[in-house]
Amino acid sequence: MKKRSFFVRTLLIFKPFWKPFGLMFGILLTIQLFGVFSPFLLGKSVDAVTHLDTRATALYLFFALVLSFVQSQLLYYVRPWFEIKYLDDHINHAFSIKALSKTFSFSIGQHVDQHSGIQQSVINKGKDGLSQFMISIIYVILPTILQIFVTLIILALVDWRVALVAATFAGIYLYLSLKYNSKFSPKILDLKKMGRSVYKLESELSRNATLVISEAQEESATEHFTQKSQEHLDLDNRTWLEYTRVTNLHRIFVVFGQYVPIILATYLIFTGKISTGMFVTIFAWIISVFSNITMMMNQERQMLLKVADINKFYELLDVPSLIDVSKGGRQIEPFEGKVQFKNVSFTYTLRKSTDDEDGNDDVNDELESHTIRDVNLIIPAGAKVGFVGVSGAGKSTIVNLMRRYYDPNEGQILIDDIPLINIDLQWLRSQIGNVEQRIEVFDRSIKDNILFGLPKGRKVSDDDIAKAIKDASLEDFITKLPEGLNTIIGENGIKVSGGERQRIGIARALIKNPKILIFDEATSALDSVNEKLIHEAIDRGAKGRTTIVIAHRLSTIMDADIIFVVDDGKVVASGTHEELQKKSKDYQKLIKHQVLAS
Ligand code: ATP
Repeated sequence: MKKRSFFVRTLLIFKPFWKPFGLMFGILLTIQLFGVFSPFLLGKSVDAVTHLDTRATALYLFFALVLSFVQSQLLYYVRPWFEIKYLDDHINHAFSIKALSKTFSFSIGQHVDQHSGIQQSVINKGKDGLSQFMISIIYVILPTILQIFVTLIILALVDWRVALVAATFAGIYLYLSLKYNSKFSPKILDLKKMGRSVYKLESELSRNATLVISEAQEESATEHFTQKSQEHLDLDNRTWLEYTRVTNLHRIFVVFGQYVPIILATYLIFTGKISTGMFVTIFAWIISVFSNITMMMNQERQMLLKVADINKFYELLDVPSLIDVSKGGRQIEPFEGKVQFKNVSFTYTLRKSTDDEDGNDDVNDELESHTIRDVNLIIPAGAKVGFVGVSGAGKSTIVNLMRRYYDPNEGQILIDDIPLINIDLQWLRSQIGNVEQRIEVFDRSIKDNILFGLPKGRKVSDDDIAKAIKDASLEDFITKLPEGLNTIIGENGIKVSGGERQRIGIARALIKNPKILIFDEATSALDSVNEKLIHEAIDRGAKGRTTIVIAHRLSTIMDADIIFVVDDGKVVASGTHEELQKKSKDYQKLIKHQVLAS
């Protein structure tokens, strides 16, 4: 895809706001043009004074006053109304939706690879940058540039020599300035990159504050952060001081631009080529042109920073989705829940540098490590199967490939004999219930958290909820709570225990009545009471469903129809517990070394 220029892209992203911006631009332009005529009327009044024409003087002054009154009052009243009605939160609202839908378009694998804090900061800065950039363009830059043009054109009609000198200095300044800014941009990107790295460290340290304190690492963490932040500060100083040195040199052209035409106009009065009134008009126009240029110059640095933030936001919007959920595909009817792997191999892409601060740069710096190799397996519809193996063997990766968190590099995965890539992914995910080792929750009620997984439009009765709660062994816990299902569970589920949270996850998986149920080490972090409750929940949930359990405990999968033994990315044995105990050395080893604890 051909890359659009920054300006075209920014213009297009504001398409929903074209109308109000156009209206505002028109109003501002009118106001600015009024500003061009005030000096003209002022000059005329001076000429009238010198001709002792008091009536004309009063008239010109009156119109000049009216113009300046309209100019200031119009903006004073229109601007807040316009901003509240069309900009402010409207822009934020539109870009937040855009950013959120982009975030949801990434595959789960992409989310795992990205640093969520950095991503959110790129989005926030990008949104702010875009609205402030556009407001500066519409309010200040465009009207000011137009006013400069119009003033110079009118000045040329009055006296082309003065206009030519002023335009030459203004032109040289603008040319040098634009050229230098584009040359300077990479330095701002470096500065921003370093800023993000400091931000990442800061957000990680504050997120892990309890770890830092419990490990008595406050001092070294603070030292480390101070050093990184100081490096950033030093680079910031060096970068901007260099920028200021060069732009201060450029300012000489603004100073010359302001004084040389005025000296020339003074000479023209002496030679009697222009009247005193005309001198006043020219003087006011020249001052207005160059003070406008100075005003724009003062915004330059801020604008460069905004452009860097916006470009980073665009980079995020440009990251392609590795697995496009919106592509549609087949829905299987009737759906049985059979899963098959045919010669499946998969490789995670690793980054060389763990210091890469935002997870998006340096995509070429990739290392490859084979995780899953040539996996062949069949999970019959309705069966309960287990995956066992040492930590890092690849059990979760195999299960994640079934849910299409990633696509395999080689081989094929079939669901009910249909290639996974041809199946409507959203539909498929509505047929799968997931219970992870760590259940993600919202700071909402237990009921909301349970109902979260329901496919859109699917209604459930109170009896359905009661059944899911019962099957998930949650009943006793909920009846004890004064607010029952409406109890708010706090940020990250802080107000419920690990086991309760796990069972809320099971109820969420069961309420959608999935055809496939996946438990990924659901019991590994629990005590024996909770573990027993969850075993019971798994047994109840498994009825009539394909149930896939990744287990570290023998008791969880002993009764499974098939157990797959995974080692170093391969399925090295499969069978029932009894069969594997007899024939598989790997399985025997897992039990002997208590990798599979009984
Ligand atoms: P455990 O029982 O400890 O959960 P597992 O058998 O489920 O282990 P996987 O989580 O599938 O193992 O990991 C298999 C290998 O892939 C490991 O070496 C792990 O470090 C690596 N790995 C897992 N996820 C990623 C990832 N997102 N990026 C890169 N490598 C990964």
